Parts: sequence; C-alpha cells; structure tokens
Amino acid sequence: MVERLRAAHPCDARVLQALASVPRHRFVDAALVTQSYEDTSLPIGHGQTISKPSVVARMLDVLMQGANARRTAHLGRVLEIGTGCGYQAALLCSLGRQVVSIERIRGLYDKASTHLAPLRLHQLRLVYGDGMLGHAPNAPYDSIIAAACGTEVPPHWLAQLAVGGRLIAPVVGKGKQQALVVVDRTEAGYQRSEREAVQFVPLKSGSV
Ligand code: SAH
Repeated sequence: MVERLRAAHPCDARVLQALASVPRHRFVDAALVTQSYEDTSLPIGHGQTISKPSVVARMLDVLMQGANARRTAHLGRVLEIGTGCGYQAALLCSLGRQVVSIERIRGLYDKASTHLAPLRLHQLRLVYGDGMLGHAPNAPYDSIIAAACGTEVPPHWLAQLAVGGRLIAPVVGKGKQQALVVVDRTEAGYQRSEREAVQFVPLKSGSV
C-alpha cells in the first residue's frame, strides 16, 4: 500500500514511514481485512467510514508542511476531531508529540480504545465528547485535523490553534461540494486557503 501511495502521491517521507508502521488491518472488522490495504474508504460501524489512505496521507502531508514552516520535525501538540476506529490517531502519534483525539459516538470511542490499547501510545489521549468544541484543557494545538466535514471551521478550533499552527479540515462549500480547507494562524491573524475536493462523513454536534 505504501509503495503504491509513494508512486501515485509523492509526500513527506515521515508520513509514508508512519503509514508503513501502523497495521491498518487491525482497525477494521475481520470481514474487511482483505481490503484494508487498498486505497479505499471502509465502513467502521455506526454509519461512519475510515478514510482512504491517500486522503489520510495527503492531509498529514499538508500538516507536515506546516511543521516544516515552523522548523520543527514533528506536528507538536495535535488535536484530531473524529477518532473513528483510531487508525489516524495512531498515525498522528508517530508524527506528533502529544495527540488528543475526540469522538462523539460512544461505540466508536470504545472501539478505538480497544484497537489502540495494545499499541501503548502514551502520548495519546482519547476523549469522548463533541469535538466541535475542540478540547480546551490541552490547547493550544500546533496541528488540528478533522475527519468529518462541517459547513464552516468551528470557532473553537480556530481559538485553540496555536500561533504558528496549522489546521486542516474538510468543509462544505457552495453547491454542497466538500473541499479541504487549510488555516494557518500567524501573529497577524488567520490565513485560509482551499485545496482539492474530498468526500467525508458529516461533522455533527453533541455526543451519542
Ligand atoms: N480518523 C478516523 C475517521 C473516522 S470518520 C479513522 O481513522 O477511523 C469521522 C468520525 O468523525 C466519525 O467517527 C464521526 O462519528 C466523528 N465525528 C463527527 N462529528 C464529530 C464531532 N462533533 N466530534 C467528534 N467526532 C465527530
């Protein structure tokens, strides 16, 4: 899978290394194991999906470019919204110093906890709750990444982004088309840019 990604989507070597080190098949149901190294999104229960590896790689690569601009070799303190099955949280642990990942569906929070426990990722904190509020106790974050698509970037995420930090999130634009939005926070304020079209599950408020 990593060799195919490397050929099709050149990206940061550390991102490819992280993808090579986390066994994706351990994060999906037994019936889907044979598909787990294909470049496809897969159902993880509760109507949610684990993102396509190429999209995960792309988002992590954009965050790493932000880290390079800060002249750090890692993502620093990371906030992930949408833990899902926990796969991307595990990847973030090899690229960041501390990772907080929030999930609003109890069943998925439990599933991710089970998947991640054997990996003993001491720098990871899983939180059950509404990620639209971010997670103030560990803010500010150098890197924020959302795995679910909202109609705008929630104000709490912007407030919890460190100066020098970078956020990447899918956002619904005009015509209901989703696109990746990147926000950089500088001393002067926030700089927003829009990247390619994507397809993510919706960002929902509250927890269930
Ligand atoms: N990164 C995940 C992708 C999961 S799909 C993985 O590797 O598996 C996106 C997830 O975002 C879903 O589990 C969904 O429940 C969650 N989500 C949607 N809105 C949310 C919110 N407001 N707070 C936290 N999680 C949310």
